Amino acid sequence: MPIKIDPDKCQGIGDCIDACPVGVIEKIGDKCVATHNDECLECEACLSSCPNSAIEMA
Ligand code: SF4
Ligand code: SF4
Repeated sequence: MPIKIDPDKCQGIGDCIDACPVGVIEKIGDKCVATHNDECLECEACLSSCPNSAIEMA
């Protein structure tokens, strides 16, 4: 199951990038994007790392 990041809520500081153990998320411009969703382990670490609740399981 992939994650989805709401660009309207993302501030691009990157806590989710640090939280993800397998590098699913990358910064593109000033927003974070799930570029490697096929690697996602569904651990939900990124969800709890995000201060803006910008990430959900899609
Ligand atoms: S933790 Fe949330 S607000 Fe911060 S960069 Fe990631 S998705 Fe955006
Ligand atoms: S759920 Fe886990 S593996 Fe998937 S993107 Fe978030 S931190 Fe990475």
